[in-house]
Amino acid sequence: MSYLAKNYNRKKISFVRGKGSYLYTVSGIKYLDFVQGIAVNCLGHAHPKLVETIKKQSKKLWHVSNAFQIPEGEKLAKKLCQKTFADYVMFQNSGAEATEAAIKIARRYFYSIGKPNKTRILCVKNSFHGRTIAAIFASGSKKMTEGFGPRVPGFDHFSFGDHKSLKKKITKNTAAIMVEPIMGEGGINVIPDFCLRELRKLCNKKKILLILDEVQCGISRSGDFLAFEKSKIFADIAPIAKGIGGGFPIGAVLMNKKVAACMTPGTHGSTFGGNPLAMAVGNTVMDIVSTKQFLRNVKKSSKYFLSNLNKLKEKYPKIIKEIRGRGLLIGIQLYKDQTKFIKKLMDNKLLTIRAADHVVRILPPLNVKKKEIDQALKIINKVCTEHK
Ligand SMILES: *Cc1c(COP(=O)(O)O)cnc(C)c1O
Repeated sequence: MSYLAKNYNRKKISFVRGKGSYLYTVSGIKYLDFVQGIAVNCLGHAHPKLVETIKKQSKKLWHVSNAFQIPEGEKLAKKLCQKTFADYVMFQNSGAEATEAAIKIARRYFYSIGKPNKTRILCVKNSFHGRTIAAIFASGSKKMTEGFGPRVPGFDHFSFGDHKSLKKKITKNTAAIMVEPIMGEGGINVIPDFCLRELRKLCNKKKILLILDEVQCGISRSGDFLAFEKSKIFADIAPIAKGIGGGFPIGAVLMNKKVAACMTPGTHGSTFGGNPLAMAVGNTVMDIVSTKQFLRNVKKSSKYFLSNLNKLKEKYPKIIKEIRGRGLLIGIQLYKDQTKFIKKLMDNKLLTIRAADHVVRILPPLNVKKKEIDQALKIINKVCTEHK
């Protein structure tokens, strides 16, 4: 019997070891891991540079309170600011904490400029911003909020792509619009660049803030360091997490100086957030994944993967409805429920994960090799052949 709570429907499989794109079971069976902890292990399993960093830092210093200076955190924050729109960074431990902190910053900003009525956050219906009590109500998903009332006030919703309702839902009490540039859990829906640009303009016009949740699509996953960079706009606030720790839990909020000014001493804190061990790992991840060469390779792998998946779509037009995504955040949308398909892929030693909308989500490590993509394509082709 298991003493773990039953809040997951776990597959009956466990791993003892991982190396790069592969996972190994106790009995040595090898799986091609194109989940990577849901976009977390951006450099695959047991990357030698990350192993080295953990080893070195674990002998020096793991944790000190944020009451003291943490040079490793200073370094990582500087790198993040130099690479992005951000002027300041606030470290957390997870994605949900980062999105919640983003909401706090938006509200506190308006409070600090004498507009305390502006508290409401406008989000996409059935989006995903994490599982804390506020974040589930930000998602506007019935499934996630059921039984967790009373409803947390302060969130409004519009449907993905419905520009009219988006504009209508902005009121004098709106503080910010919060969206994922590429919806991950929601089914790999990419917000087109021109929409992001319109969104930015709208926020400027209405004098509200734009929060872009980069927890899943950020950290080079899309082929750009942050997914919204492609549209040439800036966010005011951007929560990040998943990829930045390469498997070590790190979250952070990136923000511009306009909003950062409201976060004065005592306004927010986190016991674990930004500790030296986490920051050492984050620095190593950042040094690797933020280079032009690395990003170029992500784009190259993506192009190869997507074009071949589109060929499979043409080959199996009754099974595959659409190939979605950007970079190495990829979705195969099926016509039918994807559960069996994912199981078949797993039986053939390829690990993937579901997303909404009948989507099979594929998240290889960002340093995936061409021959590993070929192996995945071969398995997907085989499963399509056998799929009824
Ligand atoms: C995963 C995710 C979160 C929540 O991150 P956790 O680390 O699970 O709390 C928030 N936003 C988006 C877009 C995500 O994909």
